[in-house]
Amino acid sequence: MKVDFSVSDFLYRAENVHGDRVGIHDEPDAPGGGLGSLSYRRVGQLARAQAAGLDALGVGMGERVAIVSQNSARMFVSFFGVSGFGRVLVPINFRLSSAEIEYIIEHSGATVLMVDPELADSVAGIDVKHRFVLGHDTDAAIFPEGVEPRPATPDEDATATINYTSGTTARPKGVELTHRNVWVNATTFGWHAGVSMRDVYLHTLPMFHCNGWGMPFAAAGMGVPQVVLRKVDGAEILRRVEQHGVTLLCGAPAVVAAVLEAAPGWDGPVPGAGTTRIVVAGAPPPTRTIERVETELGWEFIQIYGLTETSPLLTMNRSRQEYDHLSPGERAVQLGRAGAPAVGIRLKTDDQGEVLARGNVILAGYWNQPAETAEALDGGWFHTGDGGRIDDEFHLSIVDRKKDVIISGGENVSSIEVEDALFSHPGVAEVAVIGVPDDRWGETVKALVVPAAGHEVGERELIDHCRDRLAHYKCPTSVEFRDVLDRTATGKLQKFKLRAPYWEGHDRQVH
Ligand code: AMP
Repeated sequence: MKVDFSVSDFLYRAENVHGDRVGIHDEPDAPGGGLGSLSYRRVGQLARAQAAGLDALGVGMGERVAIVSQNSARMFVSFFGVSGFGRVLVPINFRLSSAEIEYIIEHSGATVLMVDPELADSVAGIDVKHRFVLGHDTDAAIFPEGVEPRPATPDEDATATINYTSGTTARPKGVELTHRNVWVNATTFGWHAGVSMRDVYLHTLPMFHCNGWGMPFAAAGMGVPQVVLRKVDGAEILRRVEQHGVTLLCGAPAVVAAVLEAAPGWDGPVPGAGTTRIVVAGAPPPTRTIERVETELGWEFIQIYGLTETSPLLTMNRSRQEYDHLSPGERAVQLGRAGAPAVGIRLKTDDQGEVLARGNVILAGYWNQPAETAEALDGGWFHTGDGGRIDDEFHLSIVDRKKDVIISGGENVSSIEVEDALFSHPGVAEVAVIGVPDDRWGETVKALVVPAAGHEVGERELIDHCRDRLAHYKCPTSVEFRDVLDRTATGKLQKFKLRAPYWEGHDRQVH
């Protein structure tokens, strides 16, 4: 008999096969009270309790349940207690303003809102049918124990989650992922990254985005203990890797940079050297960073590429074995590619170089936006908006986001390539390369640079550094120094924000 894929499959296995193992380790001093270490059996009980709580409120199948929370055990349980019992989880970025959160609640039609105590004020004015502040005080209401939930077996084509995209370009859109999308992503990720019960996973990424990465599911299916981290801090990450024996973590390049910065201050050998692997995605990792992860941390570097809309895994590049014969520098160049398509993914580029993908991980649609859905899925392929190149080894390299390509004097300049060249200068800690208006060239290349601590570096020096490495037309014509750069919560540069002041008064953002 055919049984539909559902996110509850992962917890079902963990509870029954690995019931005594740690499911989630929460921070005990979390606002409202952390739950400490919960076994997978306990996670299962709490998920059922939460589903029974939603039953009692009269929340129907397919109804949207929003959560605004930092990483926590309660949030982790909600992936199973809400989606696993036929409701739709809407995890919301806790760094958004109240107006942005309100937009998502309204747009998704959520009837329940669960919020962390320290974020409760910011959502106080939002009109929603049921609201709960997460923490010990309300556990009895949203996790009522001893009541069994109504049995629910979600259809695999039913929506499991709606994740609002991080908005590097415009107003967020609600990405509807089905149970099958999430299931296939979790199992293919687990297979390609070799997730096993010997792993211990650290949640360095915010879980509201994590559904995109599928880690609560991929790790639960194998009975992997999962450790919560609420705030990214390089030294704290190293401490937890040591304390919990973490073998697997994910992060944007900014997370990797934080760990690299903290490592020299660590007393003794870096924890996890030789055993830990770090999965990096979300933005193009600079080649120098890849090399440093392998030489300074001794962690295996895995790059993946994907989008919220693709659940997210499209490609992966890890295979230390494959590149073992190369020097760390040469290996970093190979690992700088986004990688080969995961099994089940069909990939191609169109004549403009845009990456197109098909497979069981592609979103069902954008919530209540049929025109945007039709456009994104035009011709039966999902249009990623990223520019890429597929090489002879069938590995994809991301060249740029379509909107981030700079066109200077009719020549396309990849901002990623220029950023990579600047990163190879030791005085550069962070960099964003953007196009700014120019009377002669239409657009010209500008670099915004956060200097590395303890380095004196000047504009001329950085431009010359690029000139040694890149064609002249690609080199920045100006460099500005900044203390910080605008980023999304997952570490992506918000180039539209960085670009905006330069384009004020121009009616188009590109020439
Ligand atoms: P999100 O939906 O927030 O996960 O963002 C997806 C976007 O992140 C993609 O469209 C890419 O522009 C970017 N991205 C993700 N992974 C990579 C990668 N490995 N290299 C370059 N860009 C990436």
